[in-house]
Amino acid sequence: MNSSYCTIDNEKMQTTVFEERRACIQREKRVKYSKGGDKMLKGLVYPPVCTLCGKIVGGENEKYCQACQKRLENRPKCYRTDGEFFDLCLSVFAFEEPLAETLRNMKRRKHPARANLLAKALEALVAEQGLTFDYITCVPVRWRQKLTRGLNHSEEIAVRLAKYTRIPYCRILQKHLRNKRQSSLSQKERKANVYGVYRLNRRWEGQLAGKTVLVVDDIVTTGSTLGEVARILKMSGANRVLCVTVAKSISK
Ligand SMILES: [Zn+2]
Repeated sequence: MNSSYCTIDNEKMQTTVFEERRACIQREKRVKYSKGGDKMLKGLVYPPVCTLCGKIVGGENEKYCQACQKRLENRPKCYRTDGEFFDLCLSVFAFEEPLAETLRNMKRRKHPARANLLAKALEALVAEQGLTFDYITCVPVRWRQKLTRGLNHSEEIAVRLAKYTRIPYCRILQKHLRNKRQSSLSQKERKANVYGVYRLNRRWEGQLAGKTVLVVDDIVTTGSTLGEVARILKMSGANRVLCVTVAKSISK
């Protein structure tokens, strides 16, 4: 009697365990399929695009479309700019079409997917060059400009780079004076035009001693703006100032 009761109990237990296991497998399958489904749906809504021109590419791992891939052949891996105050300034691409159009569009409105791709290109550059730093910041714009445009697109890229590198993004500087557009000026005029327009955010006073700061910007031309930013950072105690930009303006 007792043993038969035990048998029933064992059978019951085995049935329960079996059912639980089957339910677990089905749950796992559901999660697996829903994950795959999410990925598929994401791929349909946000298909992977070319970093430079924004055209849809074949797969998630393809960074560039065929035309841009061809454009990048025989190009240097990165571009270096020499200048005052910063220790190093590297750019990933040359400032030319179609990237130029992408960057112009990004100034006008948010393009999170493109900002992600450009930040990934900067992340690859930083890793390739073995750059190490304590903080990431960007070239600030005036609050009024940020208000009218709704964003500082260099900041959009810098914030994403911080996420990928796991180094904190900090608003270390502010632009407190208005100046002319750098693009309309000569090299000498650019330096004078940008002098004194940036300053340290008060809460960063005394915080930069011995630190290395990575400054992110979209384009570098003569390096005057980044030089001025680096001057303020060094005056505030930074040991090293490294600059990375998406593009470098190349004179033809
Ligand atoms: Zn392309």
